[in-house]
Amino acid sequence: MLYRRILLKLSGEALSGGSGNGIDEATLQRFVVPVKAAAARGIQVGLVIGGGNFFRGVGASSVIDRVSADHMGMLATVMNALAFRGALVNQGVACRVMSAIPMTGVAEPMATHQAVRYLEEGVVVIFAGGTGNPFFTTDTAAALRAAEMDADALLKGTHSGVDGVYDADPRTNPAATLPSPRPAMRGVTAFITRPICFIDGLSPRVAVTAATSSSTIAAISASVSCCGRYSARIAASASSFSASSGLLPLV
Ligand code: UDP
Repeated sequence: MLYRRILLKLSGEALSGGSGNGIDEATLQRFVVPVKAAAARGIQVGLVIGGGNFFRGVGASSVIDRVSADHMGMLATVMNALAFRGALVNQGVACRVMSAIPMTGVAEPMATHQAVRYLEEGVVVIFAGGTGNPFFTTDTAAALRAAEMDADALLKGTHSGVDGVYDADPRTNPAATLPSPRPAMRGVTAFITRPICFIDGLSPRVAVTAATSSSTIAAISASVSCCGRYSARIAASASSFSASSGLLPLV
């Protein structure tokens, strides 16, 4: 088995089925397939799902203050988490939602050791509510949870496509390059060994996205580097998520 424990991060927008808004049930069910398959193979799966299909705090409003807007974004992640849990349970997969924002009766409070216990029992854990703090994104939450869970891999499935992990943000730095070998787009795994920091705004190294296909998942097998405090050896792999087969090549 390539990975014993993974943290899979899905953008909220990925659940929208291309519309960018809300949840598309067919898409939701398609995403459940590889998670179910991974769990069935004994891989421990943690999930962080974004909220961008409902609300993103940055620039959302000139009327609503940023902190409130970010709180709304974090609540959006809870909606996606509940939807994904529903779809997983519907497929017979045991799943718990843990929220960084206490929400009695809706989700369990986030507690690292309890989450690890669930994972060890084969229960899929969805980490909702982001980091619980404004001014961050769910990519940061995913890196944080991956580190907390001691995950072997942090995998990211995103909306407009990722063709690899760049050495800088290609949206702001035209000189950004994809380390060699270039991650393959479909079915093949390539490895990158560069330190990456996912903590928003705190590191010049950002792993980001370039538009390719909506079906790629960049896999970052990592001890995650947080603000340079950990010396990261990141073996990142980009593998593909086949939209048609719904198979995520994890093993
Ligand atoms: N958010 C936040 N703190 C966090 C995680 C998320 O404030 O730790 C808010 C932020 O407003 C963000 C929104 O929740 O824009 C939705 O998350 P994100 O943009 O990461 O969703 P995605 O783009 O992955 O769907």
